Amino acid sequence: MSGFDCDLFVVGGGSGGVRAARMSAQRGARVVLAEAAALGGTCVNVGCIPKKLYSFAAHYAEDFRDAAGFGWDVGKPRFDWQALKANRAGEIGRLNKVYADLLHGAGVQVVRGWATVVDAHTVQVQTTAGMRRWRAKHILLATGGTPTVPDFPGRECVLTSDSMFDLDPFPHRLAVVGGGYIACEFASIFNGLGSHVTQIYRGEQVLRGFDHEVQDFLAQETRKNGVDLRVRTEVSAIAKRADGFHLTLSGGEMLVADSVLYATGRVPNASGLGLEAVGVRQGKAGAIEVDERFRTSVSSILAIGDVTARLQLTPVALAEAMVVVDQLFGSGERSMAYELVPTAVFTHPNIGTVGLSESEARARHGAVRIFRSEFKALKHTLSGNSERTLMKLVVDAASDRVVGLHMVGPEAGEIVQGFAVALKAGATKAVFDATIGIHPTAAEEFVTMREPVAP
Ligand code: FAD
Ligand code: NDP
Repeated sequence: MSGFDCDLFVVGGGSGGVRAARMSAQRGARVVLAEAAALGGTCVNVGCIPKKLYSFAAHYAEDFRDAAGFGWDVGKPRFDWQALKANRAGEIGRLNKVYADLLHGAGVQVVRGWATVVDAHTVQVQTTAGMRRWRAKHILLATGGTPTVPDFPGRECVLTSDSMFDLDPFPHRLAVVGGGYIACEFASIFNGLGSHVTQIYRGEQVLRGFDHEVQDFLAQETRKNGVDLRVRTEVSAIAKRADGFHLTLSGGEMLVADSVLYATGRVPNASGLGLEAVGVRQGKAGAIEVDERFRTSVSSILAIGDVTARLQLTPVALAEAMVVVDQLFGSGERSMAYELVPTAVFTHPNIGTVGLSESEARARHGAVRIFRSEFKALKHTLSGNSERTLMKLVVDAASDRVVGLHMVGPEAGEIVQGFAVALKAGATKAVFDATIGIHPTAAEEFVTMREPVAP
């Protein structure tokens, strides 16, 4: 190992980078990690965690309304945006420290500053104390991604998800542009918190790529909840006026909003890293290209997580990190499977999904059997809430394997996580049928759907 200052230099202290650094150090490697901003990366600071906390906050609006049917009189609830922001900031600060302690405890040297790759084995970091260089046997790029906004007149007027958590003042009229995870989640959250939300999506239906019934059902429930969802609509220009931002929509219609969120996708954080000079091959939007062992075109440099623009999810970045650790400092037997990765969209109601959509299954397997259940949850028989739940199974007719499982309804993410294990284990519809339900729950519907609704 002579000639190297460390065995592994990790660029980026987000989900993937922290996991790889910690686990490598625990296996005895000498590890340095550079982070230019707050430890924990997107997920902890401006992603999963604060988003879910705000989603909890938004759900209270429904809970207060639902409580009346159960005999509770909670008076007129009042929401304090400043209190929510302060409490969130306190919790995120605590998590930043937990991450620092975890790295320190594992023996990782954390360097604060912007890192660039100088050559196949050298990284330099611009720290407050000046420029420092490290020679590393391996370099791992885990630099994540960043929101992207298209070019149009008025682009400077819009916000991205990064700014939504500390927005001031609270947006009473919010326009959300996009139909992906972030647009749908933030539309639900701010609607729940009391904004009048207009969501504008250019395509036929939001959440492109999800099962078509999930897409339609979510759109229906979102509208019932009060979001003014407009599909096949584009924004051609935005202008700032005294009474708010004026959006010109396709067709010439105008919309006025206090804030405009553009949730139009994220691009890899790959510029300014010095990759071109070192010869690290990049693909679409600068995504770093890697092989199945996460090696780039320069074999001592690896990359994981959002910067590789595959599945942009925290558990995926964590799993990729574990593969890298095993490749570099373990048996090298671990590999990554991108099939059957479960995911949730924290809309109101939540979506939980694992496996193939109906159309994907038909394209891959030909003959499929579809099982569907749509119902009003027991709780809402008294709450008066008109929310409905959708559950759907997609079964490969030839093998009887359940190849897709989808839910729109309360706690869908919690429920689908468990069923993902069953799908991963290759469970057939016969196994689902032989499983006893837990009564009374919504989840039992997944094991009591007897008749296919479509061949
Ligand atoms: P990141 O977590 O983004 O970390 C990259 C780090 O690298 C950053 O801290 C950055 O400052 C640092 N960095 C970049 N360049 C340099 C450099 N040159 N030098 C030093 N440091 C550098 N996923 C889920 O699974 N569930 C969710 O509910 C979910 N919700 C989300 C909500 C939002 C609003 C967003 C934006 C994302 C959400 N995600 C969610 C996605 C998830 O946050 C990402 O997939 C995950 O954080 C990717 O981890 P990463 O390690 O690749 O990158
Ligand atoms: P997505 O890729 O999910 O969605 C982007 C949306 O913006 C799509 O609806 C897309 O439309 C639309 N769009 C793209 N370009 C334009 C444009 N020029 N004009 C108008 N609309 C446009 O990205 P997000 O930003 O929502 O999220 C990024 C990723 O972060 C997600 O894919 C997900 O992996 C991760 N994430 C995960 C979460 C979770 O696990 N719960 C939560 C939040 C984020 P079209 O469909 O027509 O292309």
